[in-house]
Amino acid sequence: MRKKGGPKYVFRFAEGKADGDREMRNLLGGKGAGLAEMCRMGIPVPPGFTITTEVCTWFESHGRKYPKGLEAEVRGAMALLEQSMGKRFDDPANPLLVSIRSGARVSMPGMMDTVLNLGLNDTTVAGLAERSGSERFAWDAYRRFVQMYGDVVLGVRAAKGEDHDPFSVALDTIKKERKAKLDTDLDEGALRELVKRYKAIVKRRTGSAFPNEPQEQLWGAITAVFLSWNNERADAYREMNGIPGDWGTAVNVQAMVYGNLGATSGTGVAFTRDPSTGEKRFYGEYLMNAQGEDVVAGIRTPNPIEELRAVNAKAYRQLLGIQKKLEDHFRDMQDLEFTIEDGRLFMLQTRAGKRTGFAAVRIAVDLVREKKISREEAVARVEPESLNQLLQPVFDSKEARAARRSGRVLCKGLNAGPGAATGRIAFSQEEAQARAAKGQPVILVRIETSPEDIRGMQASRGILTARGGMTSHAALVARQMGKVCVAGAGDVEIDYKAKRMSVNGRRLKEGDWLSLDGTTGEVIKGEIATQPSEVVAALFGKGAAAKKARSSPTFAAFKSLMSWADAIRRLDVRTNADQPDQCATALAFGAQGVGLCRTEHMFFGEGKLLPMREVILSEDEAGRKRALKKLLPLQRKDFEGVFKVMGTLPVTIRTLDPPLHEFLPHDAKTIALIARDMGVPKQQIAAKVESLKELNPMLGHRGCRLGITFPEITRMQAQAIFEAACNVAKRTKKMPRPEIMIPLVATAKELELQAEIVHATAAEVFAKKKIKVPYLVGTMIELPRAALTAGAIAKHAEFFSFGTNDLTQTTYGISRDDAGRFIPEYVDLGIFDGDPFARLDEIGVGRLMEIATTEGRAARPDIKIGICGEHGGDPASVMFCHRLGLEYVSCSPYRIPIARLAAAQAVLLERALE
Ligand code: ADP
Ligand code: MG
Ligand code: MG
Repeated sequence: MRKKGGPKYVFRFAEGKADGDREMRNLLGGKGAGLAEMCRMGIPVPPGFTITTEVCTWFESHGRKYPKGLEAEVRGAMALLEQSMGKRFDDPANPLLVSIRSGARVSMPGMMDTVLNLGLNDTTVAGLAERSGSERFAWDAYRRFVQMYGDVVLGVRAAKGEDHDPFSVALDTIKKERKAKLDTDLDEGALRELVKRYKAIVKRRTGSAFPNEPQEQLWGAITAVFLSWNNERADAYREMNGIPGDWGTAVNVQAMVYGNLGATSGTGVAFTRDPSTGEKRFYGEYLMNAQGEDVVAGIRTPNPIEELRAVNAKAYRQLLGIQKKLEDHFRDMQDLEFTIEDGRLFMLQTRAGKRTGFAAVRIAVDLVREKKISREEAVARVEPESLNQLLQPVFDSKEARAARRSGRVLCKGLNAGPGAATGRIAFSQEEAQARAAKGQPVILVRIETSPEDIRGMQASRGILTARGGMTSHAALVARQMGKVCVAGAGDVEIDYKAKRMSVNGRRLKEGDWLSLDGTTGEVIKGEIATQPSEVVAALFGKGAAAKKARSSPTFAAFKSLMSWADAIRRLDVRTNADQPDQCATALAFGAQGVGLCRTEHMFFGEGKLLPMREVILSEDEAGRKRALKKLLPLQRKDFEGVFKVMGTLPVTIRTLDPPLHEFLPHDAKTIALIARDMGVPKQQIAAKVESLKELNPMLGHRGCRLGITFPEITRMQAQAIFEAACNVAKRTKKMPRPEIMIPLVATAKELELQAEIVHATAAEVFAKKKIKVPYLVGTMIELPRAALTAGAIAKHAEFFSFGTNDLTQTTYGISRDDAGRFIPEYVDLGIFDGDPFARLDEIGVGRLMEIATTEGRAARPDIKIGICGEHGGDPASVMFCHRLGLEYVSCSPYRIPIARLAAAQAVLLERALE
């Protein structure tokens, strides 16, 4: 079919042949590439053609004009389409109708708009009626067309202050007038009248008559699709998902097949596996006598796919065969759209299906077991962040049971997004965002959601809709975002104006507590506490519940995937933890050591704050030593606890770091208490507190500056660490591996002085205890000066650990605690790509890391280098650390599985680029 020479803007697919294929998704968009591929596979697909994404990009960059030659290509493709359908566009006797469908490189659900039944006007509608033998069908198609075209192309939508778009209002009105419950109850006469009213609406709202010319309709719709690439919803979606704005969308023009041709016709959507749980079962929904998005839009509640067998066994069997063929061919779970026209099955779309984190893990692992993909592919396929869902809490079973018994279950909807969410009701996007900004957990309650609601969904813990099925917008988007969702809870009646909802006579208002069980579909009044997920229960739980969790398919899949990731990755993953229980949690999640033990957290524990304050508030060294003596055994015990849990794994312990003011007493009562304990007058303590106040504590007397001016603090900490290590070594016969880390070093001399103290203390303790434990002394690299002079610093450091929280603060000169006020605006304005405290700034901060790594290694080839900032748990930052060639990343316990997976993906990406 391919013609020679010149740029090719139009790719055809028809009758088992196609110009394009699955590899061409960048040019044809996902939908176009999928249609071409299905066509090549001999699957029944209505013929059509795809206008490439290049045209969209061209259009956008040339003042919204089309490239030369496009029109001719489209004309040619239309002529061939007419031939293969045996119908002609704009033919009054037997009109060809087409759909105009958008489709970008990656699917953007609901973002771009589709127009169906294009080519209808007052003349062709008669031909359609004549040919199909159904006036009702022809007018049903026509009213749908006018509505979709009016909305998508002509922009006739709900105006400000209107709850609904004028077409839905007109539809509801006529349904009331004709006493029709469903849209399928409307007869031909009603539909005819509806078309008239729709056209009047268009005239009133746009000032022009509805376009009658099919050619004009065709180009109007094509242009609308290209324009929709830059509509606000699409922009918002792209922004949230990091999709570049210059990819553009393709336009698919495809011959219509009719699911609304009566009782033997229908339309549906299906998944080759359960998109919620990942279970291997064909899963879907359909509606008879329906078209296009009816199934998704929640106009009627659709039927489960199994029921299709009874309606049309042949089509059902064929569909089963096709779904298997498609999954095998694409080697992934597919999301399918199909239409049955008068008993004949047509496939309209196939794409990799959106899925929850649960499903992503299970499907990837199952596909390996079924020998469809390799372990590496499975590891590459699961979005690291989505593992988060598997660790998210579910409802506390006792509280949930009590809630059920006491009749707090209001109703049941569809379990569209698993997990448990409890929060306050918001009925609008704005309200959800406002409450979330105040730190409230939110449940967004809507009749149905539309793409306009995505920011509100993002701000919510859970989403409840009154209408729509498992494949409704709410369900789809919630699953992708990893939000809890109960969809299609038909008993929920919502009054947006009054900000109230009622369920079987029980009323709730905005701000009331509501709980959603996305696994059972229950909607429960009030708040319910949550408990650990299956994976967490399997890892940490005890007793029967834990045993059950351990044999669950989710946990089995999780375990396999993690072990495959471990076999691939080169980066070690450590944890940031200070307490033995946190360390135990981290080990269960696969930690290979502690990357950051913050000793100051220990001081806030029982009995430690007072002596710590005395250290700080003492007038002289003798006083400090007295207080430190009290602290020593307490610190030693802390470290013993950590070493015992961590065994022979490395434990990086940071000496005292925070600004002193964090320890200072603020009220008279505490000051009096300290004074009494220290045997000095209150006034003296109060004066000392005053004198220690700093204007800018973050850049003040903190970090190693404390250890430099109060060397006895470092000495005490080193003594506690080494004594603890020796004690544990003797007791457990396992050698702890402490790594003492000096914070906030700016100059080599600072580290040299601190390291001297540590080494001297180690020698003393080892001599006294008559045992030696292996240990390292190193530093954090968290000031630009340290990074820039890393070569000199490495002379005294056996390891570096990038403290990227402070390094980001000091590189940007932005205080993390004050950044919230302007960072969102900076991101909006495109000054920052994202929050640099969440995602490592590879260009600036990363550059410093690169310098430090290179120079550190040059000065000391065997230096160990890792990262212990929060970035250690961010997948993109983990991948960057891999590229830098670090030895490990360290993150909070619950981020460890995410970091393990990201570290493995970094290797796979590297291999792919080789
Ligand atoms: P989206 O990208 O939002 O999924 P689609 O382009 O897939 O939008 O179209 C929306 C709906 O219209 C689909 O459910 C599909 O079944 C239906 N549809 C699209 N093209 C045709 C066609 N040629 N014949 C019948 N139905 C169609
Ligand atoms: Mg859509
Ligand atoms: Mg679709």
